[in-house]
Amino acid sequence: MTKLKAITFDLDDTLWDNHGVMARTEEGHYRWLLEALEAWRAARQEPALTLTQEGGREDYLQRRQQLAKEVPERRGDFTWLRMRALEAQLEAEGLTRSAALLWAAAAMNEFHRLRVQVTPHPEAAGLLAVLTERYQLAAITNGNIHLARQPLAAYFPVAIAAGELLAPKPDPTPFLTALARLNVAPEHAMHVGDSWQEDVLPAQQLGMHAVWISALENQPLPPRVHRIAHIKELPRVLEMLEKASLETHHSGGVYSH
Ligand SMILES: [Mg+2]
Repeated sequence: MTKLKAITFDLDDTLWDNHGVMARTEEGHYRWLLEALEAWRAARQEPALTLTQEGGREDYLQRRQQLAKEVPERRGDFTWLRMRALEAQLEAEGLTRSAALLWAAAAMNEFHRLRVQVTPHPEAAGLLAVLTERYQLAAITNGNIHLARQPLAAYFPVAIAAGELLAPKPDPTPFLTALARLNVAPEHAMHVGDSWQEDVLPAQQLGMHAVWISALENQPLPPRVHRIAHIKELPRVLEMLEKASLETHHSGGVYSH
């Protein structure tokens, strides 16, 4: 096998569990918006909002889903969808256009503050620190976490927000963009992620190695695909590949003499 030079990582549910932080962010930024906006209006003797936490969030979700249908190329650009949905909701509530833009932006600022409060798996930083000495590393995410502010940002000189490229995984574009920026051919690279459809298949089809983080055992795996249950098992796969690479190299040496 050819020598591995680069490893690209999915982030959410690969380097940390995303569920809790997403739920807190969803609830928290909207609560912040209504509370801060209510206080602002009260100070200006403006009438109270008709929006409620629960009803407002439901309407916000429906506006995002509708917008994703109307502007399909933006369907993976979650920050854009949220910002436009909030602006429209606040204008429908009677805010002026400029106040709606300001408050939607402020709410998304709060969203990003909460969204980066992920807790990486305890092994992740140590693992990336070791890998970075041997391989070039990149992050490729469909999520809208702020890439420069997330806790493992220092390990990823190349970080791709696929939704903002308007080409969310499984589109090959974010993989090819990462490989181009790393200046590495697909066969010298590996992608690590938890989604079979969005991480494993597109990487494998491009000719990359792929590591699937999944508890599903006994699933037949195509060539160049490996399964681990947790990111901490990645060194075992890398050792195996390095060994296979050395053996290929040595046997090649025998034939060439
Ligand atoms: Mg993921």
